Amino acid sequence: MQKKIKDIIIAFDGHSSCGKSTLAKQVAKELNYTYIDTGAMYRAVTYWAIKNNFVQNKNINVEALKSSLKNIEITFQKDDTGKQSTFLNGENIEKQIRSLEVSNSVSYISELDFVRKKLVALQQAMGKNKRIVMDGRDIGTVVFPNAELKIFMTADVDVRAQRRYKELIEKGESVQFEEVKANIEQRDKIDQNRAISPLKKADDAIVLDNSRLTRQEQFEKVMNLIYEKFSIK
Ligand code: C5P
Repeated sequence: MQKKIKDIIIAFDGHSSCGKSTLAKQVAKELNYTYIDTGAMYRAVTYWAIKNNFVQNKNINVEALKSSLKNIEITFQKDDTGKQSTFLNGENIEKQIRSLEVSNSVSYISELDFVRKKLVALQQAMGKNKRIVMDGRDIGTVVFPNAELKIFMTADVDVRAQRRYKELIEKGESVQFEEVKANIEQRDKIDQNRAISPLKKADDAIVLDNSRLTRQEQFEKVMNLIYEKFSIK
């Protein structure tokens, strides 16, 4: 029988490509909680900006993006196979937002204050009844500073690059290991050094380094922690 826990908010933050979403999804499923991938929301805005020619590499037409942002509706819905997917104005863009093209621009888009303001407000509304697992970069520090459980995830950069490279190759993208690793390093650098809501460990977050853990091991570690702290007797 499933153990009962209190209604809480669980925040997963951490470096790029260290498996936050895989673990967050697993935990949400186990607890019957809603899973929110905030990276997908920043990726959706980036995809929109690229599609509308507001982005040329690092150069962003900030004013055009700003005034068009009101036309964006980002939702999470199940696709035909039942998999939770990201939709932009009713279109399933789950595959497109995982491309290296979007990854290469997303950290520049997510530095913009008006983008963060819009997405943080949406994220906070999604968590108003608790019972959510949310992953990102600023969940435990900015979106839900009072989240009951905060996990800060990290792993060696080579391990992360190898995992992401394998994932992209399996999806049929033609990429080189070195460019995948460079993208991860660059995103971490921008995310940690930006002026607004930089990626940093919240003081009360628990660090989880999964360089040498299997998916099952990290899942068990986190579930034990949750049951230990939040079980209803
Ligand atoms: O989690 P994911 O790697 O898909 O996130 C893509 C990018 O979105 C990150 O590199 C970061 O620049 C941005 N992001 C953010 N704040 C969040 C989630 C993601 O700035 N809460």
